[in-house]
Amino acid sequence: MGQSVLTTGFARVDGVMHCEGVSLEHIAREVGTPLFVYSSATMRDRYERLERMLAPLPHRIHYTLKANSSLGILRVMRELGAGADVVSGGELHRALRAGFAPSDIIFGGVGKTAAELAQAIDAGILFINVESEGEIHLVSQLASERRTTARISIRVNPEITLETPHDYIKTGGKGHKFGIPYDDVVHVAQIARSLPNVELVGLDMHLGSQLSRIDPYRDGAERLSSILSELTARGVTGLRYIDIGGGLGVRYDTEEPPDLERFAHLVLPIIAETGLKLIMEPGRFLVGNAGALVGRVLYRKHSGGKDYVITDTGMTELLRPSHYGAFHRIEAIRERGNARRVDVVGPVCESGDFLALDRDLDDLRPGDYIVVSDVGAYGYAMASNYNSRGRAAEVLVDDDRFAIITARELYDDLTRLEVETPMWEAGDPNR
Ligand SMILES: *Cc1c(COP(=O)(O)O)cnc(C)c1O
Repeated sequence: MGQSVLTTGFARVDGVMHCEGVSLEHIAREVGTPLFVYSSATMRDRYERLERMLAPLPHRIHYTLKANSSLGILRVMRELGAGADVVSGGELHRALRAGFAPSDIIFGGVGKTAAELAQAIDAGILFINVESEGEIHLVSQLASERRTTARISIRVNPEITLETPHDYIKTGGKGHKFGIPYDDVVHVAQIARSLPNVELVGLDMHLGSQLSRIDPYRDGAERLSSILSELTARGVTGLRYIDIGGGLGVRYDTEEPPDLERFAHLVLPIIAETGLKLIMEPGRFLVGNAGALVGRVLYRKHSGGKDYVITDTGMTELLRPSHYGAFHRIEAIRERGNARRVDVVGPVCESGDFLALDRDLDDLRPGDYIVVSDVGAYGYAMASNYNSRGRAAEVLVDDDRFAIITARELYDDLTRLEVETPMWEAGDPNR
């Protein structure tokens, strides 16, 4: 599990960036830009690393769909042996469409609607991670109406303060909206136990995202384990799963990726002690480094002492730089030399529409292709149609082959749900 040999799947061959055995220039010419390209080998590598690390214990990796929920990516994950972790009815629908068995799916999220919970109960998924007492009562009522029992796991807010690159990706601190406050968990678990139509099968936490340190996982696992002991002492037994969430970080720039050996050393013994099956919900770790965004330079411009590279891709494809201030490496697909300090910006009518600020980049010319690295997670999944831009195409590479897994959105797709001539209906007649 050496950290120095992390496969990226992307490398230069004769000065031209390739994904595995296929030139990005070739794919861009065939499919057009903007374009997401994914390396199957990188996803396999990350999955297998995590599998090896968890091997000493009974465990299951549930891939978190929200990082990238395209069916082509889900298929890769399912074939590797992953289960699925979903946070909406739409994601549950996708997971089932991608062929995940209901018993391989878990469902989390702070604001599930009655319709979404009913969908999960009807599908018979492995368990629902509940995040409030109100939600438990609703699950119980919905299960009772269906004359069935719903399996639930309680999402505990472990109330651990940690460092993440941005406040928006902290989720397990005191006062966050997620999970049940630590001090209330035992009480809520007892309520769950008293309801005939819910079966409490586990405890869950999710600390945050892009974590590079392992200690918070150890602290969180200890907190879950101590709740478990307290539950046992109060006669609440029979739990089967301990779910320690996702959050493992990846390298975007110079970050140290999480040390999996340290994870095995610090966290697994605590889980082993509980005797429960370990569940992890990684998203970013499995797909983050596996994807690249390919765009094309439209113009060069000099304005107010700054050099701009204006490309055909920006915040509509990759929101992370403007939303989180995130760093992504950008390079010319074909080396040109003569580095210049530039801002790389998109075509969207927003000053926040940038991919990189003050970067030294090859002296690019209109028509040149660029590649933005490590966009496999929270890239396409956060894409939008702002400025009526169709969403980009997605391509999967496997060794020396490539395939389109998501077609580029067309103009007709943009207006498909819109009604040009309103079909008026009378307002409330009692008003
Ligand atoms: C987002 C999320 C994950 C995955 O987070 P990553 O940082 O992508 O690993 C896992 N579990 C829950 C509950 C989440 O909301």
